[in-house]
Parts: sequence; structure tokens; C-alpha cells
Amino acid sequence: MFRHASRNSDNIKYYEVLGVPKTASQDELKKAYKKAAIKNHPDKGGDPEKFKELGQAYEVLNDPEKREVYDQYGEDGLKDGPGRGGPSHNPFDIFETFLNPRYRSHVRRQKQGEDVVHTLKVSLEDLYNGTTKKLSLSRNILCPKCKGKGSKSGATGRCYGCRGTGTKVTTRSIGLGMFQQMQHLCPDCRGSGEVISDRDKCPPCKGNKISYEKKVLDVHIEKGMEHGQKIVFEGQADEAPDTITGDIVIIVQLKEHTKFKRKFDDLYIEHTLSLTEALCGFQFVLTHLDGRPLLVKSNPGEVMKPDQSKAINDEGMPHHKRPFIKGMLFIHFNVEFPDSGILSPDQCRNIATILTPKPSKKHLTDMELDECEETTMHDVNIEDEMRRKSKQQYREAYDDDDDDDDDDEEDDDDPMPRVQCAQQ
Ligand SMILES: [Zn+2]
Ligand SMILES: [Zn+2]
Repeated sequence: MFRHASRNSDNIKYYEVLGVPKTASQDELKKAYKKAAIKNHPDKGGDPEKFKELGQAYEVLNDPEKREVYDQYGEDGLKDGPGRGGPSHNPFDIFETFLNPRYRSHVRRQKQGEDVVHTLKVSLEDLYNGTTKKLSLSRNILCPKCKGKGSKSGATGRCYGCRGTGTKVTTRSIGLGMFQQMQHLCPDCRGSGEVISDRDKCPPCKGNKISYEKKVLDVHIEKGMEHGQKIVFEGQADEAPDTITGDIVIIVQLKEHTKFKRKFDDLYIEHTLSLTEALCGFQFVLTHLDGRPLLVKSNPGEVMKPDQSKAINDEGMPHHKRPFIKGMLFIHFNVEFPDSGILSPDQCRNIATILTPKPSKKHLTDMELDECEETTMHDVNIEDEMRRKSKQQYREAYDDDDDDDDDDEEDDDDPMPRVQCAQQ
């Protein structure tokens, strides 16, 4: 009988906290909790202890199963009950879940982690033959001991200082009765919104949740890959709690080759012939990017002219993904002429005989020569000259435009001259 009485006093406290009779309906409980929780919310200057009690009381009485246990056995019954971890719940979570039933403090929205970008220098030989490069890197991973929880027990508490938001608002006086509100990172949880008690901190990571890993990536450079191509290792970037791990992105960067240039699937080389080779034929060995010696030779009787190009089929770069198909190899020929003064007048006559120059249509008479004006030639780089000219022309055209515009402006009655805007 005595025991029964004590039990009674123990199983009425929650009702008293909420200020409702034991017979209160679910609806009455809700209304009572809402009113009391808002009134006692620490944000509104309420008593945190009272707010916590309200949360506890409501959490139990709102759950029909828990309410039944409480009605019979009081708080002790709840402590030992199966699957009921005791009243350890955060009163702020309870309140927020009450206001927004979809709110779950432990289901945090995952952030998208950043991608980590590396460049990997490769040779043209690498892109021609394909290869595997080892790339060693270090990255953050979730602590393997606590699996990124930071605690031995796996539990994390919501930071009381910031109520899990990670930020705190302080108000400071700036004089004349005015106050300034400032938001800053919560110092208690360093912005994470969570706290782990010192006793429960995971020893290897000291509660930081993060560990460190050295890793070697095998980067497969496939035949025919291109400069700037990305090789993506999904979800291999730095790990962080509540974060979708970003990718490691390897960007292929081609080191310039001394001999071969690449354009899409074609290869280009320059080759310089002596004048004799250009006239009389040539052959040379070209070592390809896979080390094969290619014999390159002129056709019998063929004369190569300066700036002439030739192509060899299927000796260009392999297509990426279809490496058995290859582009072309282009050879651009230069012809090296002998230096001035190297030929004696006799040699010149001999060459002239051999090359049998086409006779001039008309032999110039002394009288005709007398009538001509003498000229002097000097060396010039025509391309440079053309560039200089086109620049000059552009400038002149621009100046002309300006003049036209000025005229327009004078003719135009528009109060907002369009031209002025264009010039700015
Ligand atoms: Zn750990
Ligand atoms: Zn905090």
C-alpha cells in the first residue's frame, strides 16, 4: 500500500510540469506543452531547467506507449524499459520536432564536398602508347576508429551553446541606447553544432572525426587521350562528416614534344633537306613515338620544293577509345640553300648548264637597261610586315569610325547619344 502511494507521487510529476490532469487528452497535452514551452523558451529569457523538464514530460506523455509505462511505474519504469534510452533527449530537438514534425536533428542535410583537381604531366609518347601513372596524394578521411562520429559511444549531443546551429548571436551596446547584433561561429562546438563530452571523445581523432590517409592512385592514360582531358575518380576527395565526398579530377597536361606536334589525331613534324637532297632525292629514318624506325624517302626523280608538305597515312595519333584507327603524319619540308658566295662563277655556269634555265624571253639591251631605274633589295620577313600593316589599317579604320560617329552625333536629335555609350 505504501509502495503504491509512492508510485503515485512519482507518476504525476510530468502532468504537473505540463499543468494538465492525468486524464488529459493528446490534444490537451499538445496545447499545454506548446504554451508552456514558448513561455519558458530560453530564447525568450525562460528558465532552461524548466524548458528541459517540459520537453521531457511532453516527450513521454505524447507517446501512448511511454505514457502507459509512466502511468504505471513512473520515471523508473521508463529508465529500464526496452529500447528506451532514458530521457537523454535534447529539449530543443523535442520542441523543434513539435513545431515541425519533419525536423530531425540527427538527419542533417549533406553538403557536397569539393572536388580536388590535380594536373598530371604526360609526354606525347604516353598519349600515343598509353600508360599507367602513379599519383600519390594525401587526403582527409573519416576517422576509421569512430567512423567519423568523433565519439567512442557513437553518440553526439547537440551543442547547447548554439542549439545545434553552429552560430551564436551576441548583442553589444554601441552607445546611445543602441545595440548591434553580431553572428559568429559558436566557440563551444566550433561551428559543428555538436558537442562530444571529453570522456567520450574518440582517442585516435580526439573527437575531430577526421583522420589522414596517404594514397596512391593508378591513373590510366589511355591511347589517344588529349591535353586537358579529365580523368575522374568519383568520391575520392577529402572526406568530411555530413558531406558527400567530392571527386578527384586529374587533368592531363601534355608536355611539349621536341619533334612531334599534335593536332587532334594528326601529327606534324618539320624536316629540313639540303638543296642537294631536295633536288636529287633523300631518305631518312624517323623514330616514331613508340620507338619504331620509319624510313621516309622521296620518289625517284622527285624534287622537293621549300614549304612543301607530305602526309603518311595511319602514322598519326590513335583515336581515343578506338586506338586501332590512327590519324595522319604530316611532314613539312624546309630546304636549306647554300650560303651566298659559296659558288664560284664557274660552278654557277655548271649548275646553269645542268638546270638548263628557260631562256629569258628577251635579252635586255644596254639601252633598255639605261632606261631602267636602279633598285636596292633588302631582307624582309613578309609575315611580320603583313601583321604590322594590318594593325595599322585597323587603327586607321578605327579612327575613321570615330569621325563617322562624331558626325552621327551632330546629326542625331536623340538626347541620349548612342555613340557616347559605345565609346565608354
Ligand atoms: Zn575517431
Ligand atoms: Zn555550438
